[in-house]
Amino acid sequence: MIMKVITKSTEETIKLGEKIASQIQGGDIILLQGDLGAGKTTFMKGLAQGLNISENITSPTFTLMNVYPLKSSNTKQLVHIDTYRLKDEQELIDIGVEDYLGKPNTICVIEWPEKLPHLLENKKTTIVALKNINENQREIIVEF
Ligand code: ADP
Ligand code: MG
Repeated sequence: MIMKVITKSTEETIKLGEKIASQIQGGDIILLQGDLGAGKTTFMKGLAQGLNISENITSPTFTLMNVYPLKSSNTKQLVHIDTYRLKDEQELIDIGVEDYLGKPNTICVIEWPEKLPHLLENKKTTIVALKNINENQREIIVEF
């Protein structure tokens, strides 16, 4: 299934993330594709809100991976990965990414997934591609 949406504000992208959150489950790996400023982290904020996470979401640019426990769900945790500053895939393996990736009790969301060709090989993924149209508009394609 493919859906294409144009959002006209930050808030609309958050709302879209919240909506998509109701369609995902443990084991899912969501790939957020798009350039700097395309709205990947903003969309992730919506996903987190939709999963009832109240913590403020910031991109784990330096820590590489943030783990948010889920309260009201069969799924144990939401993991946010940002590979923007990743040197190689081993760096993520060293901090235990394989304990989370594709595990039935975990939802993973990855910014800059192109940097993980081996870790994502043969894994079923959901692609969210974000494109900057102008200052406040983003084209967002969700491919389940
Ligand atoms: P990325 O993680 O892709 O680098 P961010 O989500 O961190 O992008 O940043 C997107 C920026 O663009 C934010 O400052 C956000 O407020 C702004 N923005 C403006 N319009 C939109 C929109 N329609 N959707 C998402 N972000 C938007
Ligand atoms: Mg980001």
